[in-house]
Amino acid sequence: MITMKLTITKSSNFKTKPDPSSLSFGKHFTNHMLMMNYTEGEGWTSPQIVPYQPITLDPSAMSLHYSQSVFEGLKAYRTEDDRILLFRPEKNFERLNRSSDRLSIPAVNEELVLSYLKELLLLDKEWIPTTEGTSLYIRPFIIATEPNLSVAPSTTYTFMIILSPVGSYYAEGINPVSINVEEKFTRAVLGGTGTAKTAGNYSAAYKAQVGASGLGYSQVLWLDGIEKKYIEEVGSMNVFFKINGEVVTPALSGSILEGITRMSTIELLAEWGITVSERRLSMEELYQAYEKGELEEAFGTGTAAVISPIGELNWGDKKMVINNRQTGDLAKKLYDTLTGIQTGKIHDPFNWTV
Ligand code: PMP
Repeated sequence: MITMKLTITKSSNFKTKPDPSSLSFGKHFTNHMLMMNYTEGEGWTSPQIVPYQPITLDPSAMSLHYSQSVFEGLKAYRTEDDRILLFRPEKNFERLNRSSDRLSIPAVNEELVLSYLKELLLLDKEWIPTTEGTSLYIRPFIIATEPNLSVAPSTTYTFMIILSPVGSYYAEGINPVSINVEEKFTRAVLGGTGTAKTAGNYSAAYKAQVGASGLGYSQVLWLDGIEKKYIEEVGSMNVFFKINGEVVTPALSGSILEGITRMSTIELLAEWGITVSERRLSMEELYQAYEKGELEEAFGTGTAAVISPIGELNWGDKKMVINNRQTGDLAKKLYDTLTGIQTGKIHDPFNWTV
């Protein structure tokens, strides 16, 4: 029978929760998960919450071969008065559908999947850690499941949501990180899949990431794929610079992921009377500003780290030490305000939290 009514099978085998002080990123998973299947005839049907468990896939499942898959990442926080807060979750499901459209995956009903997520969170709410800097990371994703080696869109898919209690994303915490400007490898080009959260974008970035780690940098700064001149993103974060009082972030060029933290940062700064200039910014322009002593701050924005200040940028044989490797005032204020809103510690004037 085709139904969109959520069924729940509770786990009888409750796992031990990890010690909140030793949480890393994405290694522990809660007791339950959500699954929903798509077939061409019936669309998305039979959503179910089941005990967290391995799934069965045919070895020829199309996502395993041609990477037809999309995902999202957002966080749930537990407030001091025991409410569960999500930060702009509707934006994540809108973006999931935009990513799916790029990957020829059928759209999900955004309101319904958000309602399923809320049910899942209620079941596993004890897994939302409360220690400073921790949260429950939410990973919705869709994989192509049709057993078929043809290079064509699958006719069947599985949508899932899994939950993972996480500590701070970077081992260094809110401390400024060192970044290597990547001049050989490219993350995305105009017309490619850079604006979609799809698996292949991330594995294709490993080579540069591993190279940067080997040189002692924690992330890569990506340049545009055509001229290798213009700044795009930092690792899996959007990037902002404060140059001579002006806040600049690369414009959404068609190869940059439209970050929800980026959008929130721009809106928050506008509220504070600071206009962000969304434009093309070349490494050359940034370096000249640095030479003139005008590069005041640099930071990345993303769900995992929220705000991640950049203390050092290495561009070929040129090294830029930013703000004396200290967290800048703007980055600090943004971090405190965004995390304050996300965790319910400060008033949310935008109604961003759900
Ligand atoms: N760029 C990339 C490539 C990403 O994977 C992410 C993480 N989703 C971001 C930027 C930041 O997006 P958000 O603020 O929505 O987490």
